[in-house]
Amino acid sequence: MARLPLVIYPDSILTRRCADILELDGEIYEFGQAMAETMYGSNGIGLAAPQVARNIRLVTVDVGQDNAAETLMHLVNPVIVESHGRTTYEEGCLSFPGLYAEVRRQKEIHVQAYDLDGGEVDIHAEGLLSICIQHEIDHLNGVCFVDRLNSVKRKLVVRDYLREQEFQREDDTIDAIRAIHEES
Ligand code: ZN
Repeated sequence: MARLPLVIYPDSILTRRCADILELDGEIYEFGQAMAETMYGSNGIGLAAPQVARNIRLVTVDVGQDNAAETLMHLVNPVIVESHGRTTYEEGCLSFPGLYAEVRRQKEIHVQAYDLDGGEVDIHAEGLLSICIQHEIDHLNGVCFVDRLNSVKRKLVVRDYLREQEFQREDDTIDAIRAIHEES
């Protein structure tokens, strides 16, 4: 298993609707394991396949404290069949390094999906697990968490985020140029 490179916003991969998985084979199983590895390696609590450049309906979630196997969940073709209430939480996203924003979502959800072995998954989630699953399913529909903000707030946070990304790239370029000079 290897960690996969993360897709960082803005990238059009993150805006596409993902395709249903029609067959669960060894390749998808391995990919799911690599997604979990990537999520843990990035200190994330959730990861959707498009965030590692594949537009298929697969998400990995683990909101447990200690990366224990029993709290790791792979959801294939997940569907929210029922939801109740409203809640607000300050969310982040591995595709938006350094950006956090309060997002309103459903409080409780009933989700149906398959696991990587083709077994049926049927869960009632609330709290952080509910928020995390909704965030990841949004990714499968090409929706990022900033899209859940009102348009004024979204423009502000995205502008600041892109500016920060630009500074980061300039710093990286300067570091690279310095490294070349130091080598010669
Ligand atoms: Zn995300």
